[in-house]
Amino acid sequence: MESSAAPTVSAGHDVGPAPVDLLRRLRARGAGDPVTHVERVPARVGVPAPWPAWAPPELRAAFARRGVVAPWQHQAEAATLAYDGGHVIVATGTASGKSLAYQLPALATLLADPRATVLYLAPTKALAADQLRAVAGLELDGVRPACYDGDTPRAEREWIRRHSRFVLTNPDMLHHGILPGNAQWSGFLRRLAYVVIDECHTYRGVFGSHVAHVLRRLRRQCARFGATPVFVLASATSGDPATAAGRLTGLPVTAVTEDASPRGGVTFALWEPPLLPPDSATPAVPAQAAGDHDATTDLVQVRRSALRETADLLADTVAEGVRTLAFVRSRKGAEVVAANARRALDDAVPGLGDRVAAYRGGYLREERRELERALLHGDLLGLASTNALELGVDLVGLDAVLICGYPGTRASLWQQAGRAGRSGQEALAVLVARDDPLDTYLVHHPEAIFGAPVEATVLDPANPYVLAPQLACAAVEAPLTPADLALFGDGAKEAIDQLVEAGALRQRPTGWYWRHRERPEVDLRGEGGAPVCVVESATGRLLGTVDGGSSHFLLHPGAVYLHQGISYVVDDLDLADGCALVHVEEPDWSTHARDVTDLSVVSVRSYVDAGPVGMFLGEVDVTSQVVSYQRRRIATGEVIDTRPLDLPTRELRTVAVWFTLSPRSLASAGVQQADVPGALHAAEHAAIGLLPLMATCDRWDIGGLSTALHPDTEAPTVFVYDGHPGGAGFSERAYGTASAWLRATRDAIAECGCETGCPSCVQSPKCGNGNNPLSKPDAIRVLDVVLENLPA
Ligand SMILES: [Zn+2]
Ligand SMILES: [Zn+2]
Repeated sequence: MESSAAPTVSAGHDVGPAPVDLLRRLRARGAGDPVTHVERVPARVGVPAPWPAWAPPELRAAFARRGVVAPWQHQAEAATLAYDGGHVIVATGTASGKSLAYQLPALATLLADPRATVLYLAPTKALAADQLRAVAGLELDGVRPACYDGDTPRAEREWIRRHSRFVLTNPDMLHHGILPGNAQWSGFLRRLAYVVIDECHTYRGVFGSHVAHVLRRLRRQCARFGATPVFVLASATSGDPATAAGRLTGLPVTAVTEDASPRGGVTFALWEPPLLPPDSATPAVPAQAAGDHDATTDLVQVRRSALRETADLLADTVAEGVRTLAFVRSRKGAEVVAANARRALDDAVPGLGDRVAAYRGGYLREERRELERALLHGDLLGLASTNALELGVDLVGLDAVLICGYPGTRASLWQQAGRAGRSGQEALAVLVARDDPLDTYLVHHPEAIFGAPVEATVLDPANPYVLAPQLACAAVEAPLTPADLALFGDGAKEAIDQLVEAGALRQRPTGWYWRHRERPEVDLRGEGGAPVCVVESATGRLLGTVDGGSSHFLLHPGAVYLHQGISYVVDDLDLADGCALVHVEEPDWSTHARDVTDLSVVSVRSYVDAGPVGMFLGEVDVTSQVVSYQRRRIATGEVIDTRPLDLPTRELRTVAVWFTLSPRSLASAGVQQADVPGALHAAEHAAIGLLPLMATCDRWDIGGLSTALHPDTEAPTVFVYDGHPGGAGFSERAYGTASAWLRATRDAIAECGCETGCPSCVQSPKCGNGNNPLSKPDAIRVLDVVLENLPA
């Protein structure tokens, strides 16, 4: 959500050095050039469009009071499509004014038809509240916008249902409150003209699949009352937004993607920290302890860490008097960057370190405002922050932004880079790669960042683990009929049959009826397995939750668990209660869980027969058990001991993509028989690391298994599967983009400067086998065989 006329705060202090000169000095600092690419993102002049003829003067005047003289081209185009009754998604950059694209047709309709209503959905209450302020600020008669969410007092709810014509809510409230209470909402739904879905790229994976069905339930209720609202969606820039929006809503959606808003110029550098000299390669544990990620690792660090590199860059820019914001993924990491930068500055000029601070979520509001104020006025020159700032704080107009590690999606990357640049001035942005296959790939493939986006928002409404509970909810709202099957899509009939068999639905001549008194309990953000609570024994304080799938790995008895940079040791994991008891302790070892995983193929949905290579998509059963853990000295990486664990096996029915190769093709590519397991294993790790390039997922959402001979495929095979029951759409996307995905995987491995494999290419931070065996050169050969045979 952003308004087209977001107030920007900017300081009137001296102009810093030109970004090009600044970058030249930064890169000349060490031996070798860490910069792999410099992209000059030119300033763009906005392309305004005339107000559409249908926009009433009253509305134009209201926008003009807010400083909007005319819409930008993309706003006008999307607005007119929607006003004419087409479903539309506007997928453009940060601060491009997407909100005007839906406010314009929605509000024009409310003014023209005094009965019409609008429903606006945001992923968070905070965004809905922002949008409420924006709409209310237009002061249009009779619109009466109101937020309706969990915080809305009971006393106000009825008034809103009866009188508000612009209701702002979130998918959870729609699911738990509005749809089950559809009788009370019938007046509103009957007159519903528009449904606005803001920040719709956040509806991805299992959550997105649930939301897709909540929207189908909404459409069904509207249809019962005779309404067919127009859907207007707003999204960050992404690959194939029309398809993603179509899957989310179940409707044909037109995409508007040409951004016509103005922006300042940015010099954007991609920066790869140098390899360490071979003899100084150290276990990566210190970097982990510094909070690069809160998970066990088996990695050997061969590259200078992104945290250190970012700290040096921050010190250098601050020394030049440049106001700089460094984004670091973890809170502890942000503190490490700030501390190192301060130390370096104090060494150079005592006292200069005071002009750098760390900023993270959890500060009191006044503390945050004080930091913002200090930075805007130049008292403070450098700030290291987590993404906390990405959401809550209005801080733009900096001279330089350092991004320590790819933030996971292009949307986040541009949101962070967008903090740089004061009006009319050039700014510098630097992406510092972490030692991770995706980061490595990106700094060597700038087209993946600056070219047309390939990363798509994926979801899978056909997931039976989502579909069945959603159909149960729908049946409570009104009996299901055969006419509903098409609405809920593939698999709906099977899911209904299963619900009948399980005694949840009863079939009558007029449809399928819910049999119970209580409504089904369905959590949209549920991940199948219940999350495990992490509780500090001494105080009973809840530290956080870990999803069920990771709990055995991260919370087994004896595990060292890092939470927001503080070290805890697990005393007990009570799976029945879904709770792990921990105490504060910082031992000088780390723990590394090992698991054994089995996978069997249940069915094949689709496949490509490419001679010696086969590519498959299908259902699989994954059985895994965490069986032991190693304790290792943090300082040296030395293994202290291996301790057995007694944890139950876990089973997962999910969707996988897999490829097979004939043994003969591997042999003729030069892969020795003994190296096949290491070759496949290395290819599997890198392929998992690169999948987030194609789909908005995290490598932690995905699992893999490779084997030189799989009983179901009878061939050397690499499996990559969705880590969520029933699948989340990631494997499906991987299958659909297989050659591009595996090409990127191959290039990431081949272009990594290490010799035998490192965390930037084939090592994985979540390997259950301790990253053994791995063969980097043979992984390239394996992928070459696949790519030579697979049709593009
Ligand atoms: Zn490498
Ligand atoms: Zn592995």
